[in-house]
Amino acid sequence: MKIDLHIHSDASDGTYAPRRLLEMACDARLGAAAITDHDTVDGVRAALAHGIPASLRFLTGIEISAAPPEAFPLGGSFHLLGYGFRPDDPELNRTLTVLQEARRNRNPRIIAQLNRMGIDLTAAELADRFDADAQLGRPHIAQLMVDRGAAASIDDAFDRYLGKGRPAFVDKYRIPCADAIRMIQDAGGVAVLAHPGLLSLPKGIGVPDIVETLVGQGLHGIETEYPEHAPAQRKAYRDLARRYDLLMTGGSDFHGDVKPEIRIGTGGGDLAIPFRYYEKIVQRLDRGPAKPASPSPGDGAGAPAIAPRP
Ligand code: AMP
Ligand code: ZN
Ligand code: FE
Ligand code: FE
Repeated sequence: MKIDLHIHSDASDGTYAPRRLLEMACDARLGAAAITDHDTVDGVRAALAHGIPASLRFLTGIEISAAPPEAFPLGGSFHLLGYGFRPDDPELNRTLTVLQEARRNRNPRIIAQLNRMGIDLTAAELADRFDADAQLGRPHIAQLMVDRGAAASIDDAFDRYLGKGRPAFVDKYRIPCADAIRMIQDAGGVAVLAHPGLLSLPKGIGVPDIVETLVGQGLHGIETEYPEHAPAQRKAYRDLARRYDLLMTGGSDFHGDVKPEIRIGTGGGDLAIPFRYYEKIVQRLDRGPAKPASPSPGDGAGAPAIAPRP
């Protein structure tokens, strides 16, 4: 049995509704799945409200764009995945509201830059073309540009306008990674470094350096299996996970029709992500919150984390 623990719904920048994703996960005969939208749990809530099919195990999930550890000025996508947390955790939801605000405030600034370059788009059109309640961002703006003929493809829009270092790039507030890890853990979940292969590292810094620092901040796992990870990278990340006693996770990063080459339920090509990874995560969640470095006697390590499962 295989799993997919990295799936985007239309609550962020995927093209399929959560309930359709559950069907697709069943059609692909997955044993377990997680919806991991950017900075929102609306898709997770919708899936739970709809009901999880009996054949499927479901983990709550999220993908947070965090600021890397201060010592490492990283480029690329520094993303943390969270799994098995309580989606109604008040602190988590407060923080997500802040991140969602930051994203919403950024879009008009991106659009203003594009307008200055002679590309005629408005924020109202963006809200009109997509679900205004979804986490709209650069991928949606890129799609609108393609619709208008202002870009040949989404990739082209990123390459020429929206990507880092390009003229319409606008950065947004990112939560410090230590805070993101703590927030996920306090909500009963585990925090995982997403796709380390997508980090662009400064000279002399390796993924092991980053992981060591993150482990000091409470990191629980590494996304070892990912379509853009070469076989040697997967092996290196698995070795790293073993060295620090971290969970291994994996997923497709399925976004639906905007990235048609990615299929749900694979870690790239025909590579299956083993059900064992899911079982290890659940075991870790059932153990409850990580013990503090010097446990105070008799605190019983707190209440067990709730892993929402059918
Ligand atoms: P945002 O959250 O608005 O900063 O957009 C980031 C998202 O845009 C990423 O998570 C990807 O899904 C997507 N993305 C980033 N770079 C590219 C690219 N070159 N081509 C297509 N999609 C991209
Ligand atoms: Zn995305
Ligand atoms: Fe990501
Ligand atoms: Fe993703």
